[in-house]
Amino acid sequence: MIPGMDLAALWEGIGRHLMAAPCRLCGEPPEAAAELCRDCRAALPWIDPPCPGCGLPLPPGRPDAPCGHCLRRPPPWQRLIAPLAYTPPVSGLVHAFKDDGDLAAGRLLADLLAGALPSECPGAILPVPLHRRRLRERGFNQAAEIARRLPGRTLHGSLQRPAPGPDQRGGNARRRRANVRRAFVADPRRLPRRVLVVDDVVTTAATLTAVTDALRRAGVGTVWVCAPARTLPDGARNRR
Ligand SMILES: [Zn+2]
Ligand SMILES: [Zn+2]
Repeated sequence: MIPGMDLAALWEGIGRHLMAAPCRLCGEPPEAAAELCRDCRAALPWIDPPCPGCGLPLPPGRPDAPCGHCLRRPPPWQRLIAPLAYTPPVSGLVHAFKDDGDLAAGRLLADLLAGALPSECPGAILPVPLHRRRLRERGFNQAAEIARRLPGRTLHGSLQRPAPGPDQRGGNARRRRANVRRAFVADPRRLPRRVLVVDDVVTTAATLTAVTDALRRAGVGTVWVCAPARTLPDGARNRR
């Protein structure tokens, strides 16, 4: 025992060192109870600054202004938040979560998304539902797992997906849009005026457009959509 050393602090330090899992990406011990060390977190492919309409990166120095594309053709939702680009290592986390059932990867993705949601975000949270058959195959709804970690109240049963829809990772954009256009049905009796829709990854935005259209038909006034990550136009080949 070194004279003057605080025994309680020493024990706390040892305990923290033993308890803390290594950083998920580099294996170094992270600070506090974080899943990632500070360096790995900072090195993630953050989209900064993002367009508030489509989530794609804007030129630096234009925060909060929509991109030219969104000005010409405004998206159906009021705001899209997807803080990370779907490139490694984020794509690896999504793959581990969705395809291998690694729920810790899902929690990490959800926490990274939660940190990017502004305080004025709608508090009623609606995960994009999976069709019954998909749910049986996968065993869990990845959007619902993410939604559980976000601040707010998750709505259950307000949105149905009667059609199975295609695997969103296959096919071209036009076919995907046609397939999901009428895939969702919202129950107007169970929906508040402002809703935050949650998905796992924004790809072509076809799914989120179909969900937003269903919510609008059911009388929802304000729709925000979010996901931990989104693909970038030339990033598709980097997936997985
Ligand atoms: Zn690390
Ligand atoms: Zn945009």
